[in-house]
Amino acid sequence: MNLLGDFTFSQSSLQDDVDCPRRFELRYLKRVRYPAPETQDMLEFEQLMQHGADFHRLIHQYILGIPTELLTPFADEAPLNLWWRHFLADGLRDVPDEKRLPEMTLIAPLGDYRLLAKYDLLAITPGERAVIMDWKTSRNLPKREWLAAKLQTRVYRYVLALAGDELNDGAAIPPDAIEMRYWYAEHNRVISFPYSEAQFAEDERYLLSLIAEIEERDIFPLTTDDRRCRFCTYRTLCGRGNEAGLLDEYETDFEITLADDFDIDLDQIAEIEF
Ligand code: SF4
Repeated sequence: MNLLGDFTFSQSSLQDDVDCPRRFELRYLKRVRYPAPETQDMLEFEQLMQHGADFHRLIHQYILGIPTELLTPFADEAPLNLWWRHFLADGLRDVPDEKRLPEMTLIAPLGDYRLLAKYDLLAITPGERAVIMDWKTSRNLPKREWLAAKLQTRVYRYVLALAGDELNDGAAIPPDAIEMRYWYAEHNRVISFPYSEAQFAEDERYLLSLIAEIEERDIFPLTTDDRRCRFCTYRTLCGRGNEAGLLDEYETDFEITLADDFDIDLDQIAEIEF
């Protein structure tokens, strides 16, 4: 099939396609808005999402230079207060301070399309190194292998290597000067991924192959991992059950939190907020 000529891919849309081609089709091609809740505990889920958005906003304002004493009163509620304390102590440890660009969006070409990455923070020492920071508010720490395979890890580094020259005094940022760090606020832990020419080439091959698969598809199949459907807004539309799963079940099954795995929602909030 032919996608629209100006279609812009992102880590979220590609991750949806990898997790469930049908979800990619419903969300991005047919643009179906379906009202089923993602979890049974919607109140808890919404609080988690709101705290995550508030935390991102606080860090954004901090990096823009708003004094800490003006921001801290907005982090007076658990778990935001713990995340904020951890951030002030260690969130920017060993992060370049020559150029810090919060909430930065870059777009690179990918085949006939565009690939977008929206970064929580790009921290760059021009001509030396570039660190991508991504703030995570999961209650569980994911396994490193799980994170390494996520489209976010691949797309964010790839796009910076291709489209970061304007932030690096006009010179392309070599892959081996790029590092991606996930910083887990609840645990005050960093999980870091360096980059390399070989990984860049492998990412390009992989990303182009995903797009070629999408272009060739006539039918977007439903995922065979129907555990995902319990936490998907389209489950009744797909005939995959009526009842949403519980947040705790999701964390047990997928070893992470719903908010981090379905981070399209957080992205949408962030785009509205910022
Ligand atoms: S309900 Fe299941 S099959 Fe349908 S879009 Fe969601 S994850 Fe895919």
